[in-house]
Amino acid sequence: MASPQPGDVRQEARQRFRSQRTRDFTESVIREMTRLALRHGAVNLAQGFPDFSAPERLKEAAREAITRDYNQYAITWGAKPLRDAIAAKYRRTYALELDPETEITVCCGSTEGMIASLTAITNPGDEVVIFEPFYENYGPDTKLCGAIPKMVKLQPPDWNFDPEELRRAFSPRTKAIILNTPNNPTGKVFSTKELEVIASLCREFDALAITDEIYEHITYDGDQHVPIMTLPDMRHRSILVNSMSKTFSVTGWRVGWVVAAPDLSESVRKVHDFLTVGAAAPLQEASALALSFGEDYYRQLGAEYSERRAIILTILERAGFQCYRPKGAYYVMTDISRFGFADDITFVRYLIETIGVAAVPGSSFYQNPFDGSQQIRFCFCKKYETLKSAGKKLLHLSPQ
Ligand code: GLN
Repeated sequence: MASPQPGDVRQEARQRFRSQRTRDFTESVIREMTRLALRHGAVNLAQGFPDFSAPERLKEAAREAITRDYNQYAITWGAKPLRDAIAAKYRRTYALELDPETEITVCCGSTEGMIASLTAITNPGDEVVIFEPFYENYGPDTKLCGAIPKMVKLQPPDWNFDPEELRRAFSPRTKAIILNTPNNPTGKVFSTKELEVIASLCREFDALAITDEIYEHITYDGDQHVPIMTLPDMRHRSILVNSMSKTFSVTGWRVGWVVAAPDLSESVRKVHDFLTVGAAAPLQEASALALSFGEDYYRQLGAEYSERRAIILTILERAGFQCYRPKGAYYVMTDISRFGFADDITFVRYLIETIGVAAVPGSSFYQNPFDGSQQIRFCFCKKYETLKSAGKKLLHLSPQ
């Protein structure tokens, strides 16, 4: 019998090197769609990143920070000017007083912020409540911690939740609820009344709200984002995660932050330090400048996204999609049942390969893929000409 050769790792042996926690992970569908779009030359309305330029002042500040030699590690929980700028932003925007020395941790995007927070507070077997459909990272984030996700449905067309269903999802084992508002993929902006329902369950079950607020400045029709942290008794019961990515169109910078009371921040900082040490130092310097932009910047951001929303809704409705009109963020969830395809994956493949437009299959936002099998998500954080080019291609679709 031939002796095993080095590098000749057999299938069974491979299983040994696949951890139980990650065994059932699939590749990120959103990021896979970007690769498929590139391969087929399709217009990418799948992964949510802008194809237009980041603000010139911001790019200049990043270049300058490198020239001025901000090229070594920043303090692990964040460069002081950035933490000060974050504290000033929350004071200005929400009258929230934060101590930059003990309550703010800068990390590598909100992706790290979320997983560092969950790792810091959960034990294996703890339960984490998640609204569904959900941004795909939350499931694996929870499972990597050995925690158990408990899904609660947001029901179309308005993506409301049933307070009774939410209450049933909470138990003495609940450690936290993940709340993403404005919401990806639905575009829902949770109202203060809804936040109060969630907050009262957090108090009753002694659980935390971990919030992903990266779309806070992208809301429409006068809707305003409210951080649950600003509600009574929630200041010490919330972990707020946010980032530069969406507000300043720099998704590749990977600069985010976590805001939490000192005891919670202390745990998050330890995880963050061991996970990544810190976010890119020169980009932290530039981010501090961005956070000092005045009201004009946010007004323009809102106005431009409102216009893009109007364009994409017209395009999608003309092509035969049933759209759920977003109140915030930069995605449109659509119902595809009129097109008569067996499921969302088959439909998206057809869209990319034959029509030339990429979107994200709805099933990737649900624990049970069937629940999203007649939905797909389009993003509209794109140049007007990109949206219009997608619009022309989508005219070749024919609803039944
Ligand atoms: N948040 C974006 C989306 O939902 C991008 C996600 C990512 O790939 N990090 O498309």
